[in-house]
Amino acid sequence: MTTHVLISGASGFIAAHTVAALLAAGHTVTGTVRRPDDSQSTAHLRALPGAERLRLVAADLEDPSAFDAHVADVDHVIHMASPFRMDVADARRDLLEPAVAGTHAMLRACARAPRVQRVVLTSSMAAVTDEPDTSHVLTEDDWNVRSSLTRNPYYYSKAEAERAAWRFVEQERPRWDLVAINPFIVVGPSLSGTISESNKLLVDLMNGAYPAVMALTWGFVDVRDVAAAHVRALTAPAANGRYLCVAGNRSMREVVALLRASGYAHTRLPRRGLDSALGNHLARLAAFTQPRGVASYLRTHLGRVPRYDCAKIMRDLDLAFRDVDQSLLETAADLVRHGHVAPAPRAA
Ligand code: NAP
Repeated sequence: MTTHVLISGASGFIAAHTVAALLAAGHTVTGTVRRPDDSQSTAHLRALPGAERLRLVAADLEDPSAFDAHVADVDHVIHMASPFRMDVADARRDLLEPAVAGTHAMLRACARAPRVQRVVLTSSMAAVTDEPDTSHVLTEDDWNVRSSLTRNPYYYSKAEAERAAWRFVEQERPRWDLVAINPFIVVGPSLSGTISESNKLLVDLMNGAYPAVMALTWGFVDVRDVAAAHVRALTAPAANGRYLCVAGNRSMREVVALLRASGYAHTRLPRRGLDSALGNHLARLAAFTQPRGVASYLRTHLGRVPRYDCAKIMRDLDLAFRDVDQSLLETAADLVRHGHVAPAPRAA
Protein backbone atom coordinates (compact mmCIF):
# COMPACT_ATOMS: atom_id res chain seq x y z
CA MET A 1 0.00 0.00 0.00
CA THR A 2 1.50 3.36 -0.96
CA THR A 3 0.52 6.48 0.92
CA HIS A 4 1.34 10.17 1.29
CA VAL A 5 4.08 10.59 3.90
CA LEU A 6 5.36 13.82 5.43
CA ILE A 7 8.91 13.85 6.79
CA SER A 8 10.39 16.81 8.66
CA GLY A 9 14.03 17.83 8.26
CA ALA A 10 14.09 16.05 4.88
CA SER A 11 17.53 17.24 3.78
CA GLY A 12 19.33 15.80 6.83
CA PHE A 13 21.67 12.80 6.86
CA ILE A 14 19.18 10.13 8.00
CA ALA A 15 16.19 11.87 6.45
CA ALA A 16 17.66 11.87 2.92
CA HIS A 17 18.06 8.07 3.09
CA THR A 18 14.54 7.81 4.49
CA VAL A 19 13.14 9.95 1.64
CA ALA A 20 15.02 7.70 -0.82
CA ALA A 21 13.52 4.58 0.78
CA LEU A 22 10.01 6.10 0.81
CA LEU A 23 10.23 7.04 -2.87
CA ALA A 24 11.66 3.61 -3.74
CA ALA A 25 8.66 2.03 -2.00
CA GLY A 26 6.32 4.12 -4.20
CA HIS A 27 5.09 6.58 -1.58
CA THR A 28 4.30 10.22 -2.31
CA VAL A 29 6.48 12.35 -0.04
CA THR A 30 6.25 15.86 1.35
CA GLY A 31 9.56 16.86 2.90
CA THR A 32 9.91 19.88 5.15
CA VAL A 33 13.19 21.79 5.04
CA ARG A 34 14.16 25.20 6.29
CA ARG A 35 14.95 26.58 2.83
CA PRO A 36 13.21 24.69 -0.01
CA ASP A 37 14.55 27.20 -2.56
CA ASP A 38 18.17 26.59 -1.61
CA SER A 39 19.16 24.41 -4.55
CA GLN A 40 22.49 23.46 -2.96
CA SER A 41 21.08 21.93 0.25
CA THR A 42 18.24 20.14 -1.56
CA ALA A 43 19.96 18.97 -4.79
CA HIS A 44 20.58 15.47 -3.38
CA LEU A 45 16.85 15.07 -2.74
CA ARG A 46 15.77 16.38 -6.13
CA ALA A 47 18.17 13.93 -7.80
CA LEU A 48 16.62 10.84 -6.13
CA PRO A 49 14.86 8.25 -8.28
CA GLY A 50 11.11 8.95 -7.96
CA ALA A 51 11.69 12.61 -7.01
CA GLU A 52 8.71 13.56 -9.19
CA ARG A 53 6.67 12.26 -6.18
CA LEU A 54 8.62 14.50 -3.74
CA ARG A 55 7.47 18.00 -2.78
CA LEU A 56 9.67 20.18 -0.58
CA VAL A 57 8.01 22.77 1.67
CA ALA A 58 9.31 25.24 4.24
CA ALA A 59 9.06 24.66 8.00
CA ASP A 60 11.06 25.80 10.99
CA LEU A 61 10.76 23.95 14.30
CA GLU A 62 10.41 27.22 16.16
CA ASP A 63 7.26 28.26 14.30
CA PRO A 64 4.32 26.78 16.28
CA SER A 65 2.15 26.53 13.16
CA ALA A 66 4.96 25.39 10.85
CA PHE A 67 3.40 22.03 10.02
CA ASP A 68 -0.34 22.86 10.12
CA ALA A 69 -0.92 23.26 6.39
CA HIS A 70 1.57 20.57 5.38
CA VAL A 71 -0.07 17.64 7.24
CA ALA A 72 -3.61 18.38 6.05
CA ASP A 73 -3.56 15.69 3.34
CA VAL A 74 -0.99 13.18 4.58
CA ASP A 75 -1.54 9.62 5.84
CA HIS A 76 1.69 9.13 7.79
CA VAL A 77 4.27 11.39 9.41
CA ILE A 78 7.94 10.98 10.28
CA HIS A 79 9.11 13.71 12.63
CA MET A 80 12.88 13.64 12.25
CA ALA A 81 13.97 17.30 12.38
CA SER A 82 15.81 18.20 15.57
CA PRO A 83 19.04 20.10 16.15
CA PHE A 84 21.92 17.61 16.36
CA ARG A 85 25.09 19.23 17.68
CA MET A 86 27.22 18.15 20.60
CA ASP A 87 28.56 21.61 21.29
CA VAL A 88 26.38 24.72 21.35
CA ALA A 89 26.60 28.23 22.79
CA ASP A 90 23.22 28.15 24.54
CA ALA A 91 21.80 24.66 25.18
CA ARG A 92 18.28 25.88 25.95
CA ARG A 93 18.00 28.11 22.88
CA ASP A 94 19.97 25.96 20.42
CA LEU A 95 18.91 22.42 21.44
CA LEU A 96 16.12 22.04 23.99
CA GLU A 97 13.63 24.62 22.77
CA PRO A 98 13.64 23.72 19.06
CA ALA A 99 13.56 19.97 19.85
CA VAL A 100 10.60 20.17 22.24
CA ALA A 101 8.70 23.03 20.56
CA GLY A 102 9.12 21.37 17.16
CA THR A 103 7.74 18.07 18.48
CA HIS A 104 4.73 19.86 19.98
CA ALA A 105 4.14 21.82 16.78
CA MET A 106 4.16 18.63 14.73
CA LEU A 107 1.93 16.60 17.07
CA ARG A 108 -0.61 19.42 17.46
CA ALA A 109 -0.78 19.77 13.67
CA CYS A 110 -1.25 16.00 13.29
CA ALA A 111 -4.01 15.96 15.92
CA ARG A 112 -6.01 18.37 13.76
CA ALA A 113 -5.28 16.61 10.44
CA PRO A 114 -8.07 14.34 9.21
CA ARG A 115 -6.06 11.52 7.63
CA VAL A 116 -2.96 10.94 9.75
CA GLN A 117 -2.83 7.30 10.93
CA ARG A 118 0.61 7.04 12.53
CA VAL A 119 3.42 9.37 13.58
CA VAL A 120 6.94 7.96 13.75
CA LEU A 121 9.24 10.07 15.92
CA THR A 122 13.01 9.91 15.46
CA SER A 123 14.19 9.77 19.02
CA SER A 124 17.60 8.47 20.03
CA MET A 125 19.52 6.26 22.40
CA ALA A 126 20.17 9.65 23.98
CA ALA A 127 16.61 9.39 25.33
CA VAL A 128 17.43 5.93 26.75
CA THR A 129 20.68 6.57 28.63
CA ASP A 130 23.47 9.11 28.85
CA GLU A 131 25.78 6.96 30.95
CA PRO A 132 25.70 3.35 29.77
CA ASP A 133 26.07 0.93 32.67
CA THR A 134 28.11 -2.07 31.63
CA SER A 135 26.16 -4.30 34.01
CA HIS A 136 22.71 -3.35 32.69
CA VAL A 137 21.12 -4.50 29.42
CA LEU A 138 19.19 -1.53 28.03
CA THR A 139 15.67 -2.13 26.72
CA GLU A 140 12.78 0.06 25.58
CA ASP A 141 11.82 0.45 29.27
CA ASP A 142 14.93 2.53 30.01
CA TRP A 143 14.83 6.33 30.07
CA ASN A 144 17.63 8.84 30.33
CA VAL A 145 16.87 10.69 33.57
CA ARG A 146 20.32 12.15 34.14
CA SER A 147 21.01 14.62 31.33
CA SER A 148 20.42 18.32 31.85
CA LEU A 149 21.21 21.63 30.18
CA THR A 150 24.76 21.32 31.50
CA ARG A 151 25.27 17.56 31.29
CA ASN A 152 25.05 16.11 27.75
CA PRO A 153 22.54 18.77 26.65
CA TYR A 154 21.91 17.19 23.22
CA TYR A 155 20.87 14.02 25.06
CA TYR A 156 18.61 16.12 27.27
CA SER A 157 16.92 17.69 24.25
CA LYS A 158 16.16 14.26 22.77
CA ALA A 159 14.90 12.80 26.06
CA GLU A 160 12.67 15.82 26.73
CA ALA A 161 11.31 15.83 23.15
CA GLU A 162 10.41 12.14 23.32
CA ARG A 163 8.88 12.55 26.79
CA ALA A 164 6.81 15.47 25.49
CA ALA A 165 5.56 13.32 22.62
CA TRP A 166 4.38 10.44 24.83
CA ARG A 167 2.81 12.94 27.26
CA PHE A 168 0.93 14.56 24.36
CA VAL A 169 -0.47 11.19 23.25
CA GLU A 170 -1.49 10.30 26.80
CA GLN A 171 -3.26 13.62 27.36
CA GLU A 172 -4.78 14.31 23.95
CA ARG A 173 -5.55 10.73 22.87
CA PRO A 174 -5.29 11.46 19.13
CA ARG A 175 -6.71 9.09 16.48
CA TRP A 176 -3.22 8.12 15.31
CA ASP A 177 -0.65 6.14 17.18
CA LEU A 178 2.91 7.15 17.99
CA VAL A 179 6.00 5.03 17.41
CA ALA A 180 9.52 6.12 18.41
CA ILE A 181 12.75 4.89 16.85
CA ASN A 182 15.80 5.19 19.16
CA PRO A 183 18.96 4.76 17.09
CA PHE A 184 22.45 4.67 18.56
CA ILE A 185 25.30 6.23 16.54
CA VAL A 186 24.27 6.33 12.89
CA VAL A 187 26.99 5.85 10.28
CA GLY A 188 26.99 5.25 6.55
CA PRO A 189 27.32 7.05 3.25
CA SER A 190 25.95 10.57 3.02
CA LEU A 191 23.63 11.35 0.09
CA SER A 192 24.46 15.06 0.31
CA GLY A 193 28.22 14.64 0.76
CA THR A 194 28.19 16.77 3.92
CA ILE A 195 29.57 15.46 7.24
CA SER A 196 26.87 14.45 9.69
CA GLU A 197 27.51 14.95 13.41
CA SER A 198 27.74 11.15 13.81
CA ASN A 199 30.02 10.47 10.81
CA LYS A 200 32.19 13.28 12.19
CA LEU A 201 33.36 10.73 14.74
CA LEU A 202 35.19 8.86 11.95
CA VAL A 203 36.38 12.10 10.34
CA ASP A 204 37.88 13.16 13.67
CA LEU A 205 39.47 9.75 14.22
CA MET A 206 41.10 9.75 10.78
CA ASN A 207 42.09 13.42 10.77
CA GLY A 208 44.07 13.37 14.03
CA ALA A 209 41.57 14.97 16.41
CA TYR A 210 42.09 12.15 18.96
CA PRO A 211 45.60 12.25 20.46
CA ALA A 212 45.27 8.65 21.69
CA VAL A 213 42.96 5.65 21.71
CA MET A 214 40.53 6.12 24.59
CA ALA A 215 38.31 3.62 26.43
CA LEU A 216 35.19 4.55 24.48
CA THR A 217 32.80 1.94 23.10
CA TRP A 218 30.11 2.98 20.66
CA GLY A 219 26.91 1.28 19.50
CA PHE A 220 26.62 1.73 15.74
CA VAL A 221 23.82 1.34 13.22
CA ASP A 222 23.83 1.91 9.47
CA VAL A 223 21.87 4.90 8.16
CA ARG A 224 20.14 2.70 5.57
CA ASP A 225 18.86 0.39 8.32
CA VAL A 226 17.62 3.38 10.33
CA ALA A 227 15.80 4.63 7.23
CA ALA A 228 14.27 1.17 6.67
CA ALA A 229 13.15 1.06 10.32
CA HIS A 230 11.28 4.37 9.91
CA VAL A 231 9.60 3.28 6.68
CA ARG A 232 8.52 -0.08 8.14
CA ALA A 233 7.32 1.53 11.36
CA LEU A 234 4.85 3.65 9.37
CA THR A 235 2.70 0.69 8.36
CA ALA A 236 3.87 -2.45 10.24
CA PRO A 237 0.75 -3.70 12.05
CA ALA A 238 2.77 -4.78 15.09
CA ALA A 239 4.65 -1.49 15.47
CA ASN A 240 4.07 0.06 18.90
CA GLY A 241 5.94 2.10 21.48
CA ARG A 242 9.70 2.61 21.34
CA TYR A 243 12.39 0.74 19.41
CA LEU A 244 16.07 0.54 20.29
CA CYS A 245 17.90 0.55 16.95
CA VAL A 246 21.56 -0.57 17.02
CA ALA A 247 23.52 -3.21 15.13
CA GLY A 248 26.52 -3.70 17.42
CA ASN A 249 29.33 -2.24 19.52
CA ARG A 250 32.86 -1.37 18.50
CA SER A 251 35.46 0.10 20.83
CA MET A 252 37.64 2.96 19.63
CA ARG A 253 40.53 0.49 19.59
CA GLU A 254 38.56 -1.87 17.32
CA VAL A 255 37.53 0.93 14.95
CA VAL A 256 41.11 2.19 14.68
CA ALA A 257 42.43 -1.35 14.05
CA LEU A 258 39.76 -1.97 11.39
CA LEU A 259 40.56 1.26 9.56
CA ARG A 260 44.31 0.75 9.81
CA ALA A 261 44.00 -2.77 8.34
CA SER A 262 41.61 -1.69 5.59
CA GLY A 263 43.52 0.90 3.58
CA TYR A 264 43.42 3.90 5.94
CA ALA A 265 46.81 3.50 7.64
CA HIS A 266 47.95 6.70 5.89
CA THR A 267 45.41 8.79 7.83
CA ARG A 268 46.08 10.34 11.24
CA LEU A 269 44.55 7.53 13.32
CA PRO A 270 45.62 7.66 16.98
CA ARG A 271 48.58 5.41 17.84
CA ARG A 272 49.08 5.81 21.57
CA GLY A 273 46.82 3.94 24.00
CA LEU A 274 44.94 5.70 26.79
CA ASP A 275 42.35 2.93 27.16
CA SER A 276 43.40 1.78 30.62
CA ALA A 277 42.42 2.74 34.17
CA LEU A 278 45.23 5.31 34.30
CA GLY A 279 44.34 6.48 30.78
CA ASN A 280 40.72 7.00 31.81
CA HIS A 281 41.89 9.11 34.74
CA LEU A 282 44.09 11.25 32.47
CA ALA A 283 41.38 11.53 29.81
CA ARG A 284 38.84 12.66 32.44
CA LEU A 285 41.25 15.35 33.56
CA ALA A 286 41.94 16.38 29.96
CA ALA A 287 38.18 16.58 29.37
CA PHE A 288 38.12 19.79 31.43
CA THR A 289 40.07 21.51 28.64
CA GLN A 290 37.48 20.49 26.01
CA PRO A 291 34.34 22.39 24.95
CA ARG A 292 31.56 21.78 27.49
CA GLY A 293 29.52 19.34 25.32
CA VAL A 294 32.56 17.19 24.58
CA ALA A 295 33.72 17.28 28.20
CA SER A 296 30.47 15.97 29.68
CA TYR A 297 30.30 13.27 26.98
CA LEU A 298 33.79 12.04 27.87
CA ARG A 299 33.15 12.08 31.61
CA THR A 300 29.96 10.00 31.25
CA HIS A 301 31.18 7.51 28.63
CA LEU A 302 34.83 6.71 29.33
CA GLY A 303 35.28 3.08 30.35
CA ARG A 304 31.60 2.21 29.83
CA VAL A 305 30.31 -0.40 27.40
CA PRO A 306 26.68 -0.08 26.30
CA ARG A 307 24.63 -3.27 26.42
CA TYR A 308 21.18 -3.49 24.88
CA ASP A 309 18.50 -5.81 23.60
CA CYS A 310 17.26 -5.09 20.06
CA ALA A 311 14.94 -8.10 19.77
CA LYS A 312 11.83 -5.88 19.58
CA ILE A 313 12.79 -3.97 16.43
CA MET A 314 14.06 -7.12 14.71
CA ARG A 315 10.81 -8.92 15.48
CA ASP A 316 8.14 -6.22 14.98
CA LEU A 317 9.74 -4.44 12.02
CA ASP A 318 11.40 -7.56 10.55
CA LEU A 319 14.69 -5.69 10.51
CA ALA A 320 18.08 -7.35 9.96
CA PHE A 321 21.03 -5.06 10.64
CA ARG A 322 23.99 -4.62 8.29
CA ASP A 323 27.39 -5.72 9.55
CA VAL A 324 28.97 -2.90 11.60
CA ASP A 325 32.48 -3.26 10.13
CA GLN A 326 31.05 -3.10 6.62
CA SER A 327 29.09 0.07 7.51
CA LEU A 328 32.20 1.68 9.03
CA LEU A 329 34.29 0.89 5.94
CA GLU A 330 31.61 2.19 3.57
CA THR A 331 31.47 5.36 5.67
CA ALA A 332 35.25 5.79 5.49
CA ALA A 333 35.22 5.27 1.71
CA ASP A 334 32.42 7.83 1.37
CA LEU A 335 34.33 10.37 3.48
CA VAL A 336 37.34 9.98 1.19
CA ARG A 337 35.12 10.23 -1.92
CA HIS A 338 33.71 13.55 -0.67
CA GLY A 339 37.13 14.94 0.24
CA HIS A 340 36.69 14.93 4.03
CA VAL A 341 39.55 12.47 4.57
CA ALA A 342 42.77 12.25 2.55
CA PRO A 343 42.90 9.44 -0.02
CA ALA A 344 45.68 6.85 0.15
CA PRO A 345 48.81 8.09 -1.67
CA ARG A 346 49.27 6.50 -5.11
CA ALA A 347 51.98 3.83 -5.34
CA ALA A 348 55.01 5.19 -7.27
P1 NAP B 1 21.06 16.19 10.62
O1 NAP B 1 21.57 15.84 9.28
O2 NAP B 1 21.65 17.35 11.32
O3 NAP B 1 19.50 16.32 10.57
C1 NAP B 1 18.79 17.16 11.44
C2 NAP B 1 17.69 17.82 10.66
O4 NAP B 1 16.95 18.66 11.55
C3 NAP B 1 18.25 18.71 9.55
O5 NAP B 1 17.47 18.50 8.40
C4 NAP B 1 18.05 20.11 10.10
O6 NAP B 1 17.79 21.09 9.11
C5 NAP B 1 16.79 19.91 10.92
N1 NAP B 1 16.65 21.00 11.87
C6 NAP B 1 17.47 21.33 12.90
N2 NAP B 1 17.01 22.43 13.53
C7 NAP B 1 15.91 22.82 12.86
C8 NAP B 1 14.98 23.88 13.01
N3 NAP B 1 15.10 24.81 13.98
N4 NAP B 1 13.94 23.95 12.14
C9 NAP B 1 13.80 23.05 11.16
N5 NAP B 1 14.64 22.01 10.95
C10 NAP B 1 15.67 21.91 11.80
O7 NAP B 1 21.27 14.94 11.61
P2 NAP B 1 20.82 13.43 11.49
O8 NAP B 1 21.93 12.63 12.04
O9 NAP B 1 20.28 13.10 10.17
O10 NAP B 1 19.64 13.41 12.59
C11 NAP B 1 18.29 13.28 12.23
C12 NAP B 1 17.50 12.92 13.47
O11 NAP B 1 18.00 11.68 13.99
C13 NAP B 1 17.61 13.93 14.60
O12 NAP B 1 16.35 13.98 15.26
C14 NAP B 1 18.66 13.32 15.53
O13 NAP B 1 18.50 13.74 16.86
C15 NAP B 1 18.31 11.84 15.36
N6 NAP B 1 19.37 10.89 15.69
C16 NAP B 1 20.58 10.94 15.01
C17 NAP B 1 21.55 10.01 15.32
C18 NAP B 1 22.89 9.99 14.61
O14 NAP B 1 23.81 9.34 15.10
N7 NAP B 1 23.03 10.63 13.46
C19 NAP B 1 21.33 9.04 16.33
C20 NAP B 1 20.11 9.04 16.98
C21 NAP B 1 19.13 9.95 16.65
P3 NAP B 1 19.00 21.93 8.43
O15 NAP B 1 19.59 20.98 7.44
O16 NAP B 1 18.30 23.09 7.84
O17 NAP B 1 19.93 22.28 9.55
